[in-house]
Amino acid sequence: MPRTPAYAAVSARSALAPFWVERREPGPDDVLIDILYCGVCHSDIHQVRDEWGGSTFPMVPGHEIVGRVVKIGTQVTRFRMGDTVGVGCFVDSCRHCQACAAGEEQFCEHGMSATYNGFERNGIELDRSRPTYGGYSGRITVDQHYVLHVPAGIPLERTAPLLCAGITTYSPLRHYAVKAGDQVAIVGLGGLGHMGVKLAKAMGAQVTVLSHSTSKHDDALHLGADDFIATGDADVFNTHAGRFDLILDTVSAPHDYNAYLSLLSLDGTMVLLGLPDPTPLAAGSLIRRRRRLAGSMIGGIRQTQEMLDFCAGHGVAADVEVIDIAQINTAYQRMLQGDVRYRFVIDLATLQDD
Ligand code: NAP
Ligand code: ZN
Ligand code: ZN
Repeated sequence: MPRTPAYAAVSARSALAPFWVERREPGPDDVLIDILYCGVCHSDIHQVRDEWGGSTFPMVPGHEIVGRVVKIGTQVTRFRMGDTVGVGCFVDSCRHCQACAAGEEQFCEHGMSATYNGFERNGIELDRSRPTYGGYSGRITVDQHYVLHVPAGIPLERTAPLLCAGITTYSPLRHYAVKAGDQVAIVGLGGLGHMGVKLAKAMGAQVTVLSHSTSKHDDALHLGADDFIATGDADVFNTHAGRFDLILDTVSAPHDYNAYLSLLSLDGTMVLLGLPDPTPLAAGSLIRRRRRLAGSMIGGIRQTQEMLDFCAGHGVAADVEVIDIAQINTAYQRMLQGDVRYRFVIDLATLQDD
């Protein structure tokens, strides 16, 4: 069994520290991947701290993985040794339900096998005796059908965040068929938010960033936004009422959805992507102008590949700060203070394997 070094949290209150995981020897359909880079998503923090409930420990987070294939099973047809590949938020699903058949494996009716804080499966059902461990580690074994081809042309450390932040913002932009000239707002300029700006812009939208930080104005425009609104001043919700066709809300902390809904145009949609603690919602916020409030969760394998190819074709990549694995606890603290521009990415070459 390939034993691999990793970083894990052993409880919801402990810092991440060195740990070992056993990866399975590649079966006929598996590839063994040497992990090069892994992005740090705010969902890693939510789960490590058990903010959503039901976390299992020890936990090795990480679901924005880019690496190289170092071993392949006998039936593997999609990859060759040495290929550069990606792994996102799930590593398996039931493969039989309607969602899986539609290529929306993230909504698998039997539960997807999350890349970490999830479970491997016995066929259709999850096997709760076999936890999954994520990308803050040296290697991972994954079924070929849940592995992505990384297109050439984007630096690998800037590709890793596309596997979650990229697909999570790309998917709703496609689902709501954003087109040239649409007024799109991105709420929260963090890992997801900055990808939302770049992707919406690449699709031709007029993009506005809404941020609780006043200091991100120049960055927002530099990332490609056409406009920036600092939400600290409550008046802006009157000034910009009814302005946007689509709002992607990426904020990780509780905030008043009603205020943001007031910014939607007739038949406009606000899509919740962030997962903070719940806040109250007033029916009046939706009834006026026939507004819609929706949610979206990552994206299926087919669309994730489409997104990677779109990014390569449009020169879109994440803005990253590469860190050593030993800096991970500090990186979490900085993310909680909104101090990340705009994704931390771990260089796994800094992981000791002795
Ligand atoms: P992040 O990089 O930490 O960015 C979150 C942003 O929220 C911050 O940069 C900040 O932007 C904004 N924010 C507003 N009020 C805040 C406050 N009081 N404290 C801290 N930040 C505040 O996080 P992320 O990785 O983009 O993830 C964002 C959320 O999406 C998380 O809840 C995560 O779990 C969730 N998520 C969902 C999916 C999905 O499939 N739906 C996938 C991945 C992540 P400003 O400074 O511009 O206001
Ligand atoms: Zn994520
Ligand atoms: Zn399924």
